[in-house]
Amino acid sequence: MPDSLAQAREEVALANRILANEGVFDAFGHVSLRHPENPEHFLISRHRAPELVQPADVLVLDLDGKAVVPTPYRLYGEVTIHASIFQARPDVMAICHHHAPAVLPYAIAKVEMVPVYHLGASMGETVPFWDSRDDFGATALVVVDPAEGKSLAKALGPHSMVLMGRHGATVVGASLRELVFRTIYTTRNAELQTQAKLLGAVHPLSPEEIRKAAAYNLRPAPMERAWDLWAKHLAEREGRPAAPAAAVKTEPAVAARPPRAKPAKAPARKGAAKKKSASKRKGR
Ligand SMILES: [Zn+2]
Repeated sequence: MPDSLAQAREEVALANRILANEGVFDAFGHVSLRHPENPEHFLISRHRAPELVQPADVLVLDLDGKAVVPTPYRLYGEVTIHASIFQARPDVMAICHHHAPAVLPYAIAKVEMVPVYHLGASMGETVPFWDSRDDFGATALVVVDPAEGKSLAKALGPHSMVLMGRHGATVVGASLRELVFRTIYTTRNAELQTQAKLLGAVHPLSPEEIRKAAAYNLRPAPMERAWDLWAKHLAEREGRPAAPAAAVKTEPAVAARPPRAKPAKAPARKGAAKKKSASKRKGR
């Protein structure tokens, strides 16, 4: 978590521009972060295209989606998505709502999104589907009424991402880094799932693989490594020097390869080819 409001504003602005630069956002979409000091407040940009968001655009709202300090600026119509989920999920620190073209076909065809590669496991085992028609009939497809926000938060439940029929998706995270990582890799997963389907049957990760891969990838070091790269892409695009990467402490790779139930030196089957030890591969 950023430790000051100024730093939080910087990071929310950066997350907006990273997600635009990586092709998740266009003119629309938004990111929010729970206030670092007050869990009843959150930070979100004023009504602006994400690619243009600067720290000074980031406002503080309460969990009813109202600006804490009166502002002349217009708010996003869909702030209730963020307010409702922050209300319903105390564990959620950051939220992204987007209409990424790779994900939209799943929100339109109502086909289940499943992790098809290790980084896609960050979506978790289940991505629920919310359809505004179920509770609200014909709407403008935008979530502007607090009742709609609450209904969406209910559909999200304990999960990390929810598809929104004929509209887009909403993703949540335990930190801004985790949120951006999950948003980008679930979007890439959607591209890969679609491409794999064109080649033949999709063979997703098993529930156990999903749990292990998510635990492995959603550690500080991989998330920081990815954030640094995306921040560098953005700095290049904006023609400014990239900020120096933050140091991430070494940590034991607990989730990488849990201890085997059987001894490593199991008798080789007759004729079985010798495999390279997995531990000799370069760690990612
Ligand atoms: Zn939307």
